[in-house]
Amino acid sequence: MKITQITLVMMFTAMLFACNQTKEKMDDKKQEVEAIFPKGEKGSKDLFTGNAYPTPLLNADSVYNTLIGNVYFEPGARSNWHIHPSGQILIITDGVGYHQIEGKPIEIIKKGDVIKCPPNVRHWHGASQDVGLQQLYVIPDTEKGIVKWYEAVTDDQYSASNLKNEK
Ligand code: MN
Repeated sequence: MKITQITLVMMFTAMLFACNQTKEKMDDKKQEVEAIFPKGEKGSKDLFTGNAYPTPLLNADSVYNTLIGNVYFEPGARSNWHIHPSGQILIITDGVGYHQIEGKPIEIIKKGDVIKCPPNVRHWHGASQDVGLQQLYVIPDTEKGIVKWYEAVTDDQYSASNLKNEK
């Protein structure tokens, strides 16, 4: 092999290596979700599947009957089924996740989305399989109640989101 050929092979190998490294970095990046608010304590396994970190940010008081908090869902994590007697607004600040109202298809939610969960409707929300989710929640009219919890979202119910992704 001539020297120029060897040099070309070496250059090509170096390029491949560089590409692989970039790809790995991008894959890592895909998992990362930026935090704006404190992560808080891991939520109870009685209320969440996987690792979810709910953090209250603002409690209702005599002036504002509104509750605000943040939840970080690691990939694969989701809430149990639940209802909010006065409804709930979700503001997605980073990542990709799912929201499902019972009986309706799973909806993909991502950074920048704002979603209304109607009052007294069974629903769940959480991260996608590969990317975590940062979501702010706003609960108005807290005098009507905040949340009523039900059973966990099964793996079958959760993985129905894969079908939607493939479309
Ligand atoms: Mn909810």
